[in-house]
Amino acid sequence: MSEKYSIILICWRGRLFGKLATYDYQGYFMSTPDTNDTPAATQTSEATTHFGFKQVESSQKVNMVKEVFQSVAAKYDIMNDLMSLGVHRLWKRYTIDCSGVRAGHKVLDLAGGTGDLTAKFSRIVGESGQVVLADINDAMLKVGRDKLRDKGIVGNVQYVQANAEALPFPDNSFDIITIAFGLRNVTDKDKALASMYRVLKPGGRLLVLEFSKPTNDMLNKAYDMYSFHLLPKIGQLVANDASSYQYLAESIRMHPEQEVLKTMMETAGFEHTTYQNLTGGIVALHRGFKF
Ligand code: SAM
Repeated sequence: MSEKYSIILICWRGRLFGKLATYDYQGYFMSTPDTNDTPAATQTSEATTHFGFKQVESSQKVNMVKEVFQSVAAKYDIMNDLMSLGVHRLWKRYTIDCSGVRAGHKVLDLAGGTGDLTAKFSRIVGESGQVVLADINDAMLKVGRDKLRDKGIVGNVQYVQANAEALPFPDNSFDIITIAFGLRNVTDKDKALASMYRVLKPGGRLLVLEFSKPTNDMLNKAYDMYSFHLLPKIGQLVANDASSYQYLAESIRMHPEQEVLKTMMETAGFEHTTYQNLTGGIVALHRGFKF
């Protein structure tokens, strides 16, 4: 029996700007979603999970994460530059360099938010390639779409609202999948990794760019001071939202550290998995292949 998916496609090759439309993905599926297929209805087998340091019902987390990004979407880019002093641009540049992307490739920028990686990929894959910017949050997608459009990045980018845990694409669809600063927000990370594995082509690679555990004790302490004391204050000042940035700090501490995430990727089926610590392990770039 074929699986049914419904995709909210905000922009189809630059023709449907400003419209929300239910569309099939490259003509593969077109159907009314089952309740459990919608992004807001993610199920996990566990009754509770963490939302930052709070323990919440698993079924609630997706909406709590949604509220965070709904609230920060408009100020997301400026906050990223402020919080990281611009270093997030280097981490993302490095991710592209490690992706092996070429003209003609089909790339999934998952949890792509405001589209920093998509913009870079779009230029490299060219007219013969394609980039899908997928995110669960329509506010983030809209900010991303407007930003890329203003930069003239149209034609080979699609915007898809989707939950990483149940990707609405056929098996073996993408040459490259990236998920940058997205995985820690996902309720069931194992399910999401399995879903990424399914839609990756054999020979393709997954790159997970995510906050991780600093390797040096001094750095760890300084980073704790910064994230728990300064970060919520900057969030309050710039985005009028301290609690979302408190969540950011807490969610980073709750995310699986380097070796654990590597094992999780292997469990999902990825091979030749490696990771590299960036900025002393504040961030790590994990890479794995599907063969
Ligand atoms: N990748 C972008 C970047 O690096 O700037 C955005 C990262 S932002 C910190 C995290 C993104 O993950 C948000 O846009 C959020 O909506 C998205 N997200 C959270 N949970 C998700 C899920 N289950 N599936 C897909 N996207 C999700």
